[in-house]
Amino acid sequence: MLKLAIVSPCYNEEEVLISSSSRLLNVLSDLEGKGKISADSFVLFVNDGSSDSTWDIISQMHNSTPSIKGLNLAHNVGHQNALMAGMMAVRGMCDAVVTIDADLQDDVTAIEKMIDGFFEGNDIVYGVKVSREGDSCLKKMSAQAFYKFQKRYAHIETVYNHADFRLLSSKALEILSTYQESNLFLRGIIPLMGLPATTVDDVIIARTAGKSKYSFRKMMSLALDGITSFSSKPIMSIIHVGLLFTAISFCLIIYVIIKYFKDEVVPGWSSLMVSVWFIGGILLIALGVIGIYIGRIYTEVKHRPLYIIKDKLF
Ligand code: UDP
Ligand code: MG
Repeated sequence: MLKLAIVSPCYNEEEVLISSSSRLLNVLSDLEGKGKISADSFVLFVNDGSSDSTWDIISQMHNSTPSIKGLNLAHNVGHQNALMAGMMAVRGMCDAVVTIDADLQDDVTAIEKMIDGFFEGNDIVYGVKVSREGDSCLKKMSAQAFYKFQKRYAHIETVYNHADFRLLSSKALEILSTYQESNLFLRGIIPLMGLPATTVDDVIIARTAGKSKYSFRKMMSLALDGITSFSSKPIMSIIHVGLLFTAISFCLIIYVIIKYFKDEVVPGWSSLMVSVWFIGGILLIALGVIGIYIGRIYTEVKHRPLYIIKDKLF
């Protein structure tokens, strides 16, 4: 029978943890009752360096309910790395893993549909957001703009409106473990594996408690990873802009020479100032983009561990 692991990253989630864990346990016992998963299926909470009592709650829950397991990371490494830590910890311990945010904004009833998808022969089942009632207007708009931008600028086959609510088979986990990137963007690399995949609907609800743990800075850094980890197209588009400007400046040189011979030379202070600033701006943007890529290469080359595991409650 299928041994299922549910992996959930938690960063300062003390307000939602107890209710989330009882809802997830209900899902497990329901699926077990239907004969879809084995009795030794479990939930793993990954504590991503929380500063509140998240880890204490996880350890208490583990003591009273052994099917709740815990992984304590030494410091906050962010959602993507925490997910990776959890998935790698359950690798070899289960037949399939479902990752879901600890606030359970995703539709837990979709887990059963994911398992059905797995039994139909899929190694990956994506939860796709069909409604985002629970998300704020700003979040909805920024997320959708990002999906579109990414599609255009990074050659990457992401699943539209899918975040990190998905099922992976043990085979997919094994393959995932061979990806050695430091700038992790799971939504991009999982479709790259090319395994059989399907989608299920996911209705997003509002957080029942606590605030979003995705600060603006964290969201921007995820977006940047999503573009730069998959495409060097931004560098290429800068070269195109550079070529265009060189062409324009050649035309200008001819124009200036003609004017010179016609004795119509004007002081030209304003046009000079404008072009100096304009070209300066373009150069700075170009340098910035190159800098971003060099920074990414730097972190990849260092090859530091993505996370450090402090405690393990299994
Ligand atoms: N999270 C994490 N580390 C972080 C930030 C967030 O593990 O540095 C977790 C968080 O606890 C939650 C999930 O990632 O389980 C998604 O975060 P959140 O619900 O705050 O994001 P939103 O739904 O607002 O995008
Ligand atoms: Mg959330």
